[in-house]
Amino acid sequence: MRPPLKGEGTLHRQDVDIDKDSALLYELSLAIGTSLDLSENSTAFLEALVAQDDLEYAAVWVARKYLPDERGAEGYIQVAAVPAAWPTPSFLEPEHPLLERLGTQGRYSLVADDPVFTDLAPRGTGSAGVVAVLALGDHGVLMLYAGQRRQPFDASWFDLRADLFRKFTVSVQGCLSYREICLEAQDGARAVAMNRTAVRRLSALIEHLQVGVLVEDEARRLIVVNQHFCDLFGIPAPPELLVGSDCAVAQQQSKHLFEDPEAFVASVDACLAAQRTVVGEALRLADGRLFVRDYVPVVVDGTYQGHLWQYRDVTSQREADTALRKSEAEAQRLALVASRTSDGVIITDAQGLTEWVNEGFTRITGYTLDEMRGQPPGALLKGAETDPETIAFIQQQEEKQSAFQTRLVNYKRNGEKILVQVDAQPLFDEAGTLTGYMSITTDVTDQVQDRQALEEYARTLERVKEELEAQAIQRQHTIHAIDRARREAEAAGRAKSAFLANMSHEIRTPMNAILGMAYLLSQTQPTEEQQQYLQAITRSGDNLLTLINNILDIAKIESGKITFEKIPFRLSDMLHHVIDMTQFDAWEKGLTLAMHLASDLPEVVVGDSIRLNQVLLNLISNAIKFTEAGSVVVTVRRGIRVGSQVEIQFEVADTGIGIPESQQGRVFENFAQARSDTTRKYGGTGLGLAIVKELVERQGGRITLESAVGEGSIFTVFLPFSISTALPLASEDRVQVDISDVDLKGTRILLVEDNDLNRFVARHMLEQWGAQVEGVENGRVAIEKLCQRSFDLVLMDIQMPEMDGYQTTRYIRETLGISSEQLPILALTASALIDQREVLEAAGMNGFILKPFDPDDLRLRLARHLGLYAEASPLSSARPFINLAFLEANALGQEDFIPKMIDLFFSEVPNLLQLLQHALDDEDWPQIAFLAHKMKASTGMLGITVLHDALGVVEHLADEQVDTDQLPERIREVGQLAKQAMEALKQIQERYKLA
Ligand code: ADP
Repeated sequence: MRPPLKGEGTLHRQDVDIDKDSALLYELSLAIGTSLDLSENSTAFLEALVAQDDLEYAAVWVARKYLPDERGAEGYIQVAAVPAAWPTPSFLEPEHPLLERLGTQGRYSLVADDPVFTDLAPRGTGSAGVVAVLALGDHGVLMLYAGQRRQPFDASWFDLRADLFRKFTVSVQGCLSYREICLEAQDGARAVAMNRTAVRRLSALIEHLQVGVLVEDEARRLIVVNQHFCDLFGIPAPPELLVGSDCAVAQQQSKHLFEDPEAFVASVDACLAAQRTVVGEALRLADGRLFVRDYVPVVVDGTYQGHLWQYRDVTSQREADTALRKSEAEAQRLALVASRTSDGVIITDAQGLTEWVNEGFTRITGYTLDEMRGQPPGALLKGAETDPETIAFIQQQEEKQSAFQTRLVNYKRNGEKILVQVDAQPLFDEAGTLTGYMSITTDVTDQVQDRQALEEYARTLERVKEELEAQAIQRQHTIHAIDRARREAEAAGRAKSAFLANMSHEIRTPMNAILGMAYLLSQTQPTEEQQQYLQAITRSGDNLLTLINNILDIAKIESGKITFEKIPFRLSDMLHHVIDMTQFDAWEKGLTLAMHLASDLPEVVVGDSIRLNQVLLNLISNAIKFTEAGSVVVTVRRGIRVGSQVEIQFEVADTGIGIPESQQGRVFENFAQARSDTTRKYGGTGLGLAIVKELVERQGGRITLESAVGEGSIFTVFLPFSISTALPLASEDRVQVDISDVDLKGTRILLVEDNDLNRFVARHMLEQWGAQVEGVENGRVAIEKLCQRSFDLVLMDIQMPEMDGYQTTRYIRETLGISSEQLPILALTASALIDQREVLEAAGMNGFILKPFDPDDLRLRLARHLGLYAEASPLSSARPFINLAFLEANALGQEDFIPKMIDLFFSEVPNLLQLLQHALDDEDWPQIAFLAHKMKASTGMLGITVLHDALGVVEHLADEQVDTDQLPERIREVGQLAKQAMEALKQIQERYKLA
């Protein structure tokens, strides 16, 4: 058994070969007879042969005797050679070796070692390959050259192509006849005279032509038509059946095939009328095809015998031309791109050998096109670190003829290592055969380094992000913790407030009983010793209350709950009140307490008089407390004024023990005292100055201290106020009046108080003042009592079991329908924290009394709410009408100083009042201002403050000449007050005279 021959392995493989041969022959046959031109027709066939039959070279020579213009000459002349550029003999002499061997067989093949080969092989082909020579009848010779072939072309090779070559021979003969016709026509305008032989030959040619040809006689009857014509025009009948038919009719029938049928008919008619050769006329068909038509009139034996039409379908040729032009342009552009692109481009053949590289490739790798050509790219670029797996992958992809992308380590010409991205694309020809690879190589070394850097950066960012997140979580925890702490602190704050409120309540309630009992005892004619004990009890109680008040103040300040009122008040009223309150303490210690008010102080200022009162009271009390001998002098001056704001300086100077310099800063701190023995010696808690400082600073002021040990201290408060021209109403809180005359006789008071002791104290006080008292222990009983009988006033404790003060009051007002005018209800409260006034008013109460109550204060308020005591007018202040403190302080031991001053007042004032009236009648404002000012001097000294203030208003109105229409009333008031003052002074004068 013989071993299988290469390519013979399977039936399938043989089928493929048979298919391939027939396909080849078919393709080649299509290339025959594409033109009536001898050269064009031959070139088309040779091109097809070379391209599809593995040949390098092909040429056709034609016998010169058949060429009309060479008639009679010998040998052969070349009419076509492919490629045209190859140098081949243009003429073959009759004795040329190429012709010698043809013999009777008309064909032969030569290999390179044949002695004749060198003469036959086309010049320049070297000494390899195979040559074949073939006779085309006696009309011509065809020579083929296969450069790669080693074996001669055998008989089977020739036999397979025999029919093909025969057809080609016929086409050559036809072309020669046509050439004859054309040359006869010369200028193309003359009809061709043809002999019978020529017509026969032409008919034979026409049958085989790959162009549509139709010949008509002079009467337009069809003589010859070929199959190709029928195909072009879609005529189903075989050509021979059409002979004799009327072409004029056929023309009409087929005109609709053309895009412009009438133009087609017209062009035919034009040709027939002119009977001149027309070549290359283009006709567009309705279905988009493009035909090119030649018209050749035929003259046989001198007479016009008809004409020949030749139609060629050039659609695909035109399309191919356009496509070719397009693809050439594209190829040019691509080539430009490929050469200019920074990426490397490699084109290999099907075996993977480099055919071309661009400049980019050379830039990247350092290898030139010459160095790369014919080499597999890997041979030069591969190196130690090139990954074998990647190489294997590339080979695999190449075997599969598929596109691929990969990255691999390559080496430049200088040995430098680079990382490249390879993008490879297989290239196929039209038949789908792999012709090579094109791969694009990108240097990604930097990119990778950049990317590594980026990745590192990203990792860092990631870490930072994680850290931040962790911190955020931590912060969240902290926020929660702070929040919790804040809530706890708030809760603690609330607890503290609640505690303070309770404490204050719990202490004030028994204190009320203690102080109240002491008061009641003091009213029972105690012995002097007992009186002293009672005083001690009262003083201790007062101290305790001060402490509670201070602690409550500090708590309020610390919690930021402290607010300051902005209410107009009379500055001098307020100051005199403070002096009045402290005068007794000073007197007790044998100290002089004096006050100097600067004359330019504003009458009325806007601010918080209660807080100012508290500040000054504190400072003056301290001054008295820490001074054993000498004086305490309060001086009030007007400071700088900015717009409607004025700063007022309150100086409290004493001649006391002083404060060591080292302690001067500390005394303003909470619970700070200048000396360790202070509490023991002087009492106190060290809170007073801390509160003072806070109160002053929170109102935008400041406090200073000058002190020398053993010499005394000066505290100065600087506080800003707004100046107001509005006159304030008399304040209930500051009212002091001689209430000893106020009698509660006959009034019915309902006392609602759950604490037995307090009820006892209050009841006895009230009864002492003449009131009828019904005491009950809670709100419910109170309501029962109210339903049974009527009362003039209710004193209502707030915190009570069963029904508290608010509920009870609301019930009285809303359910029992008793109004606040019909029945005043005054609250008794020991709690100082709640914002009393609003809450109490909302519940329907008329006012409140803070426990422990000052008996005088209680008595006064009851009187006022019972309508037993008329409200003082704003100007007839309820302050002591005459305060001789100033005169006393300045008497300097002169016993008759005060009576003399009073005498002076008597002699002067009536006169001045008269003059004032005259001035008013004359509307002499400056005179009024002058007189008022003059009177103010003595009234000030005698401490007749109400009169003094009234004169101030008169002076102000007259001086400024504003609201002068008020002056008659004001001056009348001054007159009355002066009369009152003189009466009071008369009594004082008498007391002095008696003393
Ligand atoms: P308290 O008077 O209750 O002790 P303060 O805060 O009012 O508390 O005063 C703090 C301390 O400042 C006092 O204990 C005292 O040592 C000192 N001090 C205050 N005022 C005077 C003063 N006028 N003269 C001497 N020392 C004073």
